[in-house]
Amino acid sequence: MDVSWILDDLNEPQRAAVTAPLGPLRVLAGAGSGKTRVLTRRIAWLLAVNNASPWSVLAVTFTNKAAAEMRSRVEAMLEQPLGGLWIGTFHGIAHRLLRQHWQEAGLPRAFQILDSDDQTRLVKRVLRALNLDEKKWPPLAAAGFINRCKDEIQRPADIVDDRTPARRQHQRIYAAYQQECERSGLVDFGELLLRAYELWRDHPDVLTHYRERFQHILIDEFQDTNTIQYQWVRLLSGGQGDVFIVGDDDQCVYGWRGSKVENIQKFSDDFPGTQTIRLEQNYRSTGAILEAANALIANNAGRLGKHLWTDAGDGDPVQIYAAFSEIDEARFVAERIRQWVDTGGQRCETAILYRSNAQSRLFEEALLGAAIPYRIYGGLRFFERAEIKDTLAYLRLVANRDDDPSFERAVHTPPRGIGERTLDLLRESARIESCSLWQAASRLLGGGALSGRTAHAVRRFLELVERLDHSSQHQPLPERVSHVIVHSGLRAMYEEDKADKGEMRVENLDELLNVSARFIAHSDPVIVGIDPTEPDWLNAFLAHAALESGERQAGVGEDCVQLMTLHMAKGLEFSLVFLVGWEEGLFPHSRSVAQEHQLEEERRLAYVGITRARQRIYLCHAEQRRWYGKETRQSPSRFVREVPEALTQDVRSRAKPRLKTPPVVSPATTTAGGLHPRQRVRHAKFGEGVVLAIEGEGYHTRAQIHFPAAGGPKWLVVAYAKLDRL
Ligand code: ATP
Ligand code: MG
Repeated sequence: MDVSWILDDLNEPQRAAVTAPLGPLRVLAGAGSGKTRVLTRRIAWLLAVNNASPWSVLAVTFTNKAAAEMRSRVEAMLEQPLGGLWIGTFHGIAHRLLRQHWQEAGLPRAFQILDSDDQTRLVKRVLRALNLDEKKWPPLAAAGFINRCKDEIQRPADIVDDRTPARRQHQRIYAAYQQECERSGLVDFGELLLRAYELWRDHPDVLTHYRERFQHILIDEFQDTNTIQYQWVRLLSGGQGDVFIVGDDDQCVYGWRGSKVENIQKFSDDFPGTQTIRLEQNYRSTGAILEAANALIANNAGRLGKHLWTDAGDGDPVQIYAAFSEIDEARFVAERIRQWVDTGGQRCETAILYRSNAQSRLFEEALLGAAIPYRIYGGLRFFERAEIKDTLAYLRLVANRDDDPSFERAVHTPPRGIGERTLDLLRESARIESCSLWQAASRLLGGGALSGRTAHAVRRFLELVERLDHSSQHQPLPERVSHVIVHSGLRAMYEEDKADKGEMRVENLDELLNVSARFIAHSDPVIVGIDPTEPDWLNAFLAHAALESGERQAGVGEDCVQLMTLHMAKGLEFSLVFLVGWEEGLFPHSRSVAQEHQLEEERRLAYVGITRARQRIYLCHAEQRRWYGKETRQSPSRFVREVPEALTQDVRSRAKPRLKTPPVVSPATTTAGGLHPRQRVRHAKFGEGVVLAIEGEGYHTRAQIHFPAAGGPKWLVVAYAKLDRL
């Protein structure tokens, strides 16, 4: 039988893995060494050579995107559709099982999945029913507790260790929450896995059926499995059989969500007779990129250790860009992408990878400005995030009391004891009177139609919004936004969320201040359609936010730049990669630097980032950044320093201390961009003007120009300003 189509373009150890005799096998190898390729070929091998039925194969990948890609590759190789083959994520597969065995699993046929926001909302309801104060028992922390228990295969009754009062309370919440889920036929993400596990554990007939069926189990990214996923695989396979796992201990980045790198080490104990194969040749990246990644990860202790090499040649050095500011960083990235596309590069082969979703905002802006289509994976776009929508709801009410959707949103967040029944009353009254909820509330209060406690709560809400308006009326927009974030109680509410998301949300709230400050700095009242003599920045900003949250992303399938977090990028590859915000405090994140194991997880994330690149990589950091609502000086991430200098090239000379004094026009820069002081120029938007000063060099050259028609001097980046010299 000719098997060259499966094996030809594989190296020796890859071939050994693909053709290994049936039995437990572990491929332990670094990034870009062909683990995913080997796993895909192994499926083809099983089907074509071992005559395995597609029905007998179960393959698990980390994202739905990866699953779809793997399926299409195998189908293309075998030139046939393989409907019976199960490929999916752990959650997807568990869901499929539960849909088929809903009765045995004790679920209603039409059970629904709760996403994490729905879950938190349900936890809140449970807290209210238990008469627990949300301040003391933050819903996100309770949800985190519930999820952790489920990941560790613990039902409320199983929690026995160190029963501190807090743990006991969380256990009570978990039990009540679970009851509520059962009653309403709801299943959260953790429950999908736990139910599927229990389905097999408690129903030997079902388990036997699947054991007989799934003769071949293959799992990608095994280093990020958690306890329940690991036990689930053990249960299904019975600790033996053809279990093929691939992974890289240096890419374990979900420790914070319960993944256990030791699972990959433990595998050989739990699956006797495991064969281990190591792959050492990297096929993805150039020599410089690979060496940079190797040097960086060498700073972690306790690795399984491996040495990756490539015969791809050194390629370009790792480019390091020290931006003046976060805005400069985003502009630089957009500019380089434009150059790349102009010289034949594909946008979909380009990725901007950041540590946290809050960073995406400026890149969205810069790409929009440069008319470069982009797509954000995972995470909502900035103005669609819940905490931002919450704040905007208050701001909208401040601007217009009759905005009913904003009323509905703000009245509940933070919770203030105005229940569904009261709201129904308001809605009904608004309907009858044909007025807004705000007016209905005022009328009902005036007419004494609300009972004591309810009346008090509604009155306090109305007063709050009035106060927010009056006390901030004369403040500049960023202060107004800040005032609303603080005095609405939103900031405190999110600060008290001890789970991960709370911190992220506070970061996003701070970013909203930055966004509003930049909005004013960079908008012309005439262009945004407001009166320049008495600009109403609040309304202009709200309109901007509404427009921005519209359909601005590229459509599916369009050739567009990819934006995502480092976590999301695992397993993917791109020709051109920008790793942005490599600054101490941001990456590694300030909360991770104190603890060695957390710092090491951040370093693994940096390793994942670098190893996504095929040809060219930029490590970017800003010397100054608006962060947490303040301008702060930033120093480059230690991860930048851990890349040996010999492998890097500075795009501009590294951080010289910058003076805060007014720009000095040096003779060397006076001719920058062909401009000189006192020169007359014309700008498309601002009209005619006179150059006052010039600073910076080359691409960074900025000119201060007095435009009488546009109200005075403005700083413009010469490369973008499209100035006509007169
Ligand atoms: P990661 O750890 O990032 O998930 P990986 O080990 O799964 O990486 P793959 O994505 O399978 O690596 O492979 C990396 C790249 O190298 C892919 O573009 C793949 O097609 C290519 N590749 C792998 N093996 C070979 C080979 N023997 N010859 C040529 N190219 C190869
Ligand atoms: Mg892979």
